[in-house]
Amino acid sequence: MIMVEKEYVKRLFSLPHQVLASKAIDVLEKSIGSRVCLRGIIEISNICIKNCSYCGIRRDRKDIQRYLIPKEVVLSLSKRLFQSGYHSVVLQAGDRRDDYFIEYINELIFEIKRFSGGQMRIVLSLGEQDRDVYKLWRDSGADRYLLRIETSNPSLYSFLHPEEGLSGFEKRCACLLALRELGYQVGTGVMIGLPGQDVDCLVEDVIFFKHIGAHMLGMGPYIPTEGTPLHQYIDDYDKEQVIDWSLKMIAICRIVLKDVNIASTTALDTLKPGLRLEGFNYGANVLMPDFTPKEWIKDYEIYDGKPESTADYCLDALGPRIAWNNPGDPKSYIKPKLCNRGSTLKCAS
Ligand code: SF4
Repeated sequence: MIMVEKEYVKRLFSLPHQVLASKAIDVLEKSIGSRVCLRGIIEISNICIKNCSYCGIRRDRKDIQRYLIPKEVVLSLSKRLFQSGYHSVVLQAGDRRDDYFIEYINELIFEIKRFSGGQMRIVLSLGEQDRDVYKLWRDSGADRYLLRIETSNPSLYSFLHPEEGLSGFEKRCACLLALRELGYQVGTGVMIGLPGQDVDCLVEDVIFFKHIGAHMLGMGPYIPTEGTPLHQYIDDYDKEQVIDWSLKMIAICRIVLKDVNIASTTALDTLKPGLRLEGFNYGANVLMPDFTPKEWIKDYEIYDGKPESTADYCLDALGPRIAWNNPGDPKSYIKPKLCNRGSTLKCAS
């Protein structure tokens, strides 16, 4: 069965862009409609205990100012977002597991749910945590969790995270499974254009998303970043190839996974201005403008050239397609399930 799926996904990769985009839009309109959901992101902290080889805020970067935005600032920003029509807020930070941080997040969840009368969806993007911590935050009201697998190829994963080895990949999969079991809407995703990655890896990624039962996808092009170990492979970086694959991955995921939410991410605009908007012509349906205050956003440069904000032109261009005052729950989460897809989780090998 998996072989058949792989052949099918691989055939999609060989289709011309125009054909792929048109198929993806057709699936989007028939499965969930063409409205674009909004999530406001706040990058609450750049403190991280991990050292991912591609990341601009990895632990060993000593040349950036580390921060944690005060809780009151995050709360007042979240309130403003809610009042201006964003019914979904993403709290994003590096990987940090200490008690102070766990409680800080817990209080934020509680307060955001309180002031919004339960209407604001809370999306956490806070890395790998113990199951008990995921449960605590879920019980306090968190709705969604984003945890990108980055690549579903265990060897490539281990190459990108040398300090963790292959066990790091297994732990990541276990976290995704725990999140599903706890009833979160689960988002994952990969980087596209990594050293050593090829179309077969990307095909595996699409199959992985399907088998894990992802409700949301956030895929970004890999952008080489100075001061990181992975930057040494810059000579092999083929920007045109990355653009090609990034758009195709959005369309293929829409065609294969149908009713999941798919973001058109900020990094696309770093690769080529206007590409983020183009993502919506390939089946993306989620826009995530960044509301991190200026004072801190400059220290959250996870990749070189990350723009402070490029969402306004997308909001203008998408106009009536934008679903204001709408939490934008993924249809794949709302619809009744005949079986628990999470139980079929498989790690590619
Ligand atoms: S990718 Fe995430 S976990 Fe890895 S170093 Fe960067 S912020 Fe930390």
